[in-house]
Amino acid sequence: MASTHTDLYGLTLAELRALLEPWDLNPIHAARVWRQLYLGLARAPEGDEALPARVRSRLAAHARAGVLPVSAEAESSDGFTRKYLLGLQDGQRIETVLMRFTGRVTACVSSQAGCAMGCVFCATGQMGYRRHLTAAEIVAQVVHVARSLAGGEGGGRLRNVVFMGMGEPLHNYDAVMRASDILRDPSGLALSAERITLSTVGVVPGIRRMADEASPIHLAVSLHAANQDERAALVPAARKWPLDELMDACRHFSETLGRRIFFEWTLIEGRNDTERHAHEVGRLIGRLPAQVNLIPLNPTAGYGGSPTRSEAARRFQHVLTEDYGIPSTVRQRRGIDIAAGCGQLAAPVSRTAPSGPGS
Ligand code: SAH
Ligand code: SF4
Repeated sequence: MASTHTDLYGLTLAELRALLEPWDLNPIHAARVWRQLYLGLARAPEGDEALPARVRSRLAAHARAGVLPVSAEAESSDGFTRKYLLGLQDGQRIETVLMRFTGRVTACVSSQAGCAMGCVFCATGQMGYRRHLTAAEIVAQVVHVARSLAGGEGGGRLRNVVFMGMGEPLHNYDAVMRASDILRDPSGLALSAERITLSTVGVVPGIRRMADEASPIHLAVSLHAANQDERAALVPAARKWPLDELMDACRHFSETLGRRIFFEWTLIEGRNDTERHAHEVGRLIGRLPAQVNLIPLNPTAGYGGSPTRSEAARRFQHVLTEDYGIPSTVRQRRGIDIAAGCGQLAAPVSRTAPSGPGS
């Protein structure tokens, strides 16, 4: 059952001040609660004895810090990836991943329970759409990762967030942008916009809106094919937002904001990994400032394709660099043993709503 209490993780600092103001509180109290939420990473500000009793009782009566209880967690055998299955108040569950690659710590967060976009090779798409996450549920995932780091899981400070978990972030635009604003608050988690990346299947109106609202975070676009027919076969959303409209929106983003775009390309053996495909990508991207991130296919129950082998991936990269001057990377395959790789996240609904802290 959803609580009627305001979830403090969904508020900006200004909104928290506005919530506390009618309770005759001064801004110092709001600052204290905020610090508890993001720096103390405490479970419940209403339990903070440094706050006056009247503040604590009001908080307990009207608000909650929506910490997400862990239903399960797993660590990959190489120790670089940890996956959390987190419970939501209504019994939905989502997955969040902590990654330690190339010396940095990154939280990969979900924006929806399930996904409506139906990409054939993606476990989240295969499970279908359940619901949008609230901004509070998105922020709480990052807080969970930050807390587990502070609690000693190998140390390191969380500096990077990618909206590449379950769901299509531009299908849930307002909640995702609100969460990203909250995460960037300099007196809270203080993440830099430079280190936040949103990945989209190609929701054209969302990309245009990011450009027109001067969104400060990075944009990654999942391409996978460089002509309309091949793309629509892998990504059903391409029928709604065709490739030429998508590329127009990408040009608009890049011209308006003067920033490069990341294109993601899941490499599937024999399907989109030949030199012909690489030339097609090169021509499609043309002069657009871009980087291509190649992701060898990760296995999922509902799709039988195989990942491109490393030699073919290198040939693909060679064409992009030598013939078109487009930089690219091949994403390291990590966390596959615990199904925490790109496109492997899925979570069954729990039969009973969780009763962990904060719910
Ligand atoms: N919905 C967004 C973000 C989540 S998916 C999007 O589609 O961009 C994050 C990335 O993983 C996307 O680039 C997606 O295409 C890719 N992906 C999905 N399934 C995959 C799989 N089985 N193997 C490798 N990458 C996959
Ligand atoms: Fe949704 Fe992204 Fe998976 Fe496609 S790849 S089904 S958009 S989560």
